[in-house]
Amino acid sequence: MVTPYKHEPFTDFTIDENRKALEAELKKAEENFGKEYPLIIGGERITTEEKIVSYNPANKSEVIGYVSKANQDLAEKAMKVADETFEWWRKTNPEMRADILFRAAAIVRRRKHEFTAHLVKEGGKPWKEADADTAEAIDFMEYYGRQMLDMKNGVEVNSREVENNRLHYIPLGVGITISPWNFLFAIMAGTTVAPMVAGNTVLLKPASTTPIIAYKLMEVLEEAGMPAGVVNFVPGSGSEVGDYLVDHPRTRFINFTGSREVGTRIYERAAVVQPGQKWLKRSIIEMGGKDTIIVDDNSDLELAADAITYSAFGFSGQKCSACSRVVAHEAIYDDLLARVVEKTKEVNVQDPTRHDTYMGPVIDEAAYNKILDYIEVGKQEGKLMAGGTGDKSQGWFVHPTVFADLAPDSRIMQEEIFGPVVGFTKAKDFDEAIEIANNTEYGLTGAVITNNREHIEQAREDFHVGNLYFNRGCTAAIVGYHPFGGFNMSGTDSKAGGPDYLSHLMQPKTTSEML
Ligand code: NAP
Repeated sequence: MVTPYKHEPFTDFTIDENRKALEAELKKAEENFGKEYPLIIGGERITTEEKIVSYNPANKSEVIGYVSKANQDLAEKAMKVADETFEWWRKTNPEMRADILFRAAAIVRRRKHEFTAHLVKEGGKPWKEADADTAEAIDFMEYYGRQMLDMKNGVEVNSREVENNRLHYIPLGVGITISPWNFLFAIMAGTTVAPMVAGNTVLLKPASTTPIIAYKLMEVLEEAGMPAGVVNFVPGSGSEVGDYLVDHPRTRFINFTGSREVGTRIYERAAVVQPGQKWLKRSIIEMGGKDTIIVDDNSDLELAADAITYSAFGFSGQKCSACSRVVAHEAIYDDLLARVVEKTKEVNVQDPTRHDTYMGPVIDEAAYNKILDYIEVGKQEGKLMAGGTGDKSQGWFVHPTVFADLAPDSRIMQEEIFGPVVGFTKAKDFDEAIEIANNTEYGLTGAVITNNREHIEQAREDFHVGNLYFNRGCTAAIVGYHPFGGFNMSGTDSKAGGPDYLSHLMQPKTTSEML
C-alpha cells in the first residue's frame, strides 16, 4: 500500500541549517559550470558538434553548461527507439511504472537542495520560487504514480446477466513532451512522467533556455530503474526538431506547455494527417494567460495589495498564472493603488543566489527586450507609477512596474507580457469588474478579493477562468489541491495535477464477453 498523497512541504529558509544547506549546494553547482551534456536516445549517450548553451540569466558571463543538440536525423532515431520500446513498455505492470516514479521522487527529495540550487542558477529563480519548483516536480511524480494505481483496473460499467463487460485504459503510443523554461523542473517533469507512467514512451524536448535540468531528470529516472528507450532526451530547436516531431506520422500525442503562438502552431500542424498516419494525434496544449485580480469595494485592502504584489512579481511575473491586470472598484481604487505602489517600491531586485532576493532576473535578452518594449507601450497607454526601467549590465533585470489608469482594451491589459508588469483599471461596480476581467482571449487564472458572499458566488459562475481563487493571489497552484489549466486561448484545460489528468494520455477500451 502506498501512503496517501500529500504535497511536498516548502523549505523554511529562515532556519539556519536549511539556509546553509542551500548555500553549500549553490557553491557545488558552480563547480559544475561549463560541463557538457549529451542527448540520451535508447539509453545511449550521444554527443553532437552543435551545442545549446545554457546561461545564468542573472550573470551573463556564467555558462551553466553545453548541451548537445538534436537534429532531424537524431529526432528520427529517437522516434524509432521510442516506437520499438512502446511495443513492450505498454504491457508492463502499472505498479512497476508507478514504483519508478515513487523512487524518482525519493531521489529528488533526498537531493532537494541540489536541484533547487540548479534552478536558482539555470532559471534565475529566487530561493523560495526554486524550492517550490522542486517541490512541485516531486509532487507530480508522487501524484501521477498514485493516479496510475487508481486507474489500473479501469472503471466499472454495467453488465447484463449474459455478459461480462469491462472498461480499462490502455496507453496511446509515442508522445512528444515540449516544455517551457519557466517551471523548468516541475512542468518539464510532470509532462514527461505522466505519459510514461501511463505506459507511453516519450521524446522529451525541453526549452532551449533551460535544457540541463531535463538531463538531470533523465539521470534520476534512470537511477530509479526506468529502462532505456522509455523517455528519450532530444533537446533541440523548436522550429527544427519541434516541427519535425509534431509532424511525424508515428507521433501519437503531443504534450505541450508554452506560448499561445507556438501552441496554436503545434495544434494546427498536429491536425494534418500525414501519409502513413493511422490516428488523429491527441494534442494537449497549455498556453499563456492574462490573469486578473478583482478587488471589490468591501474587501481587505492590505490582503489585496499583498496578493497583487506577490502574484505580479513572484519570479519576475514569468508565470502563466501571474497577475498582470488589476480591476479595482472605483471606491477603493486610489487606496489600493497607493498600497501596491508602496509595496512594489520595497521589492528588492538582485542576484537570486542571495537568500533575501525577492525578485531575480528575467530569463534572457529576448524577454528583457520584449518587456522593456511593453513598458514603453504602457507609458503611452497609462500612468507609470513604479519601476519602468531595466538593468542589463550583469544579468537581465527588470524593475517591478505598475501602470495605472489603463483602458480595459489597451495592449497592456490584453497581451501577455510575461514579465514584472501589472496594469490597473477601474470598475464602477462588481458586474463591470467581471466584464472587464473576462474581456481577454485568455482564461487561465483569476482572483477576487471581497468580503461580499454574493459576489463570490457571482464570480464562481461568471468569471471565466480555469483556476479561480478567492481572497488570495492567483499564482501558486499545488498538485492535487488546485488542478491547473485554463479556458479559451489558455489551452486545452487538461488540468495538470488533477484527478483525471492521466486519462488524457490513455484511451479507454471496452471489452464484452458473452457468458
Ligand atoms: P514557447 O516559446 O512557446 O516555448 C515552449 C516550448 O516550445 C519550448 O520547448 C520551445 O522550444 C518549443 N517550441 C518552439 N517552437 C516550436 C515549434 N515550432 N514546434 C515545437 N516546439 C516548439 O514558451 P516559453 O517561452 O518557453 O514559455 C512561456 C510561455 O508558456 C508563456 O506564454 C506562459 O504563459 C506559458 N506557460 C503556460 C503554462 C500553462 O500551464 N498554461 C505553464 C507555464 C508556462 P525552444 O525553447 O527550443 O524554442
